[in-house]
Amino acid sequence: MNIGIVGGGFMGLVLAQKISKSNVRIKVFEQENQPGGLATYQDYGDFTWDRFYHVILPTDNHLIGLIQELGLEDRLNWRRSLTGYYVHKKFYSISSSKEFLLFPALGIIDKMMLGYTLFYGSRIKDWKKLEKISAKDWLIRIGGKKTYEKFWSPLLLAKLGENHERVSAVFIWTYIKRLFDARSSAAQKEHMGYVSGGYKTIFDQLVKLLKKNGSDVVLNCSIKHISPNPSGGITIAYDDKTEHFDKVIFTAPLNILEKVASPNLFEISKNQEAVEYLGVICLVLLTQKPLTPYYVLNIADEEVPFTGVIGMSSLVDLDQTAGTYITYFPKYVTSDHSFWSKSDDELRTIFLEGVQNLYSDFNLDDMKSARIHKAFKVQPLQVLNYSKIVPKTKTKHPDFHVLNTSQFLNDTLNNNSVVSHVENFMVDFKKELP
Ligand SMILES: Cc1cc2nc3c(=O)[nH]c(=O)nc-3n(C[C@H](O)[C@H](O)[C@H](O)COP(=O)(O)OP(=O)(O)OC[C@H]3O[C@@H](n4cnc5c(N)ncnc54)[C@H](O)[C@@H]3O)c2cc1C
Repeated sequence: MNIGIVGGGFMGLVLAQKISKSNVRIKVFEQENQPGGLATYQDYGDFTWDRFYHVILPTDNHLIGLIQELGLEDRLNWRRSLTGYYVHKKFYSISSSKEFLLFPALGIIDKMMLGYTLFYGSRIKDWKKLEKISAKDWLIRIGGKKTYEKFWSPLLLAKLGENHERVSAVFIWTYIKRLFDARSSAAQKEHMGYVSGGYKTIFDQLVKLLKKNGSDVVLNCSIKHISPNPSGGITIAYDDKTEHFDKVIFTAPLNILEKVASPNLFEISKNQEAVEYLGVICLVLLTQKPLTPYYVLNIADEEVPFTGVIGMSSLVDLDQTAGTYITYFPKYVTSDHSFWSKSDDELRTIFLEGVQNLYSDFNLDDMKSARIHKAFKVQPLQVLNYSKIVPKTKTKHPDFHVLNTSQFLNDTLNNNSVVSHVENFMVDFKKELP
């Protein structure tokens, strides 16, 4: 049996790795010149590291399981990490439950209300009810207006910028659950992980093992058309070639599916209300000196052009990045944001000015490079009743499947969920394999 997979991002390659345990031949098609999609890597000159920032949490059990399966467990490193909060022009550490509850902008009653909201939120199992209420209304109902205004509203602003009042309570529930799970670990301290060499190590290993099993990953290959074959199976067209497969699994975004797949292969039921996506614009700064002690600094200040600072070198040992400090400054924006019409040079100037205002001791002479990385559609904005408006994809052909992150209804975009999604898919798909 031969199987084609469209998309050589993390989903496509993890899927290929899981299927390759059966006696089948797999060909993964990726349009870019390297694998990885949103989780891909970047050559920064003296070293290679992730294009966007990625971290592994101790609770990412599916992802950690995959890393073990790939034989990379000895390259997985855990480090204590700090989380910060920039609000009212001041930096605060919220790196432990204690610090979270000692947050100085709140009085004793507000702190108790905050503690109650965290506890209450972490116990909720049925997320569907939370879709019907906005994060703002839900947080005020559980923890009161003052805690919302002083703590939650700035935090939502830090996570979502201008869109912070539009999300449903599901968004903040997933945040509380992740936070509570990590904090309720035995150490009660935040530990985060990375694989030596970054995600490139994981992708290199995935490709190596696939090739060893007789499968193939074809790069620089943009799929132009997918159609049913009259005598069974699916035909894929790329460049000036066509290739026949017994089964095809599509892992790229839905807008590409609509563009390349024949309408008799799938059906997308759409609601009148369109799903809005958040993209990311990110300054990646390489410096000779450290900028921040935090892995994540949430920024709740509309005057700062980015909504977070990710101090990768506060987590990753300096020998991984040739002695250079790497810091990411992301801003999540919807597709109508004015930033998309700006050139990289203009964005670099705006973001660098923001860095200088935030860190008064930052000196441009310490800077080795400043690059702008962008991804237009990263994750949907989880507005009210999101699971009802999200397009549902149904395949109309037994040999064609669609598996992508648009199917995540109650989760943020992360690679632990990608592995878990692939594992769930495999439960039924295994029955189709020889
Ligand atoms: C800024 C940022 C930070 C993140 N941080 C974390 C983190 O800390 N931890 C974590 O776990 N996750 C994180 N993530 C999420 C993680 O990157 C995603 O979960 C993962 O990359 C999703 O992979 P995917 O394969 O589903 O999608 P994609 O990466 O979008 O893969 C789809 C692939 O399909 C290819 N493709 C599209 N059209 C075609 C075509 N016609 N022919 C062939 N190929 C095609 C694309 O080039 C792409 O490679 C982060 C993401 C971003 C953007």
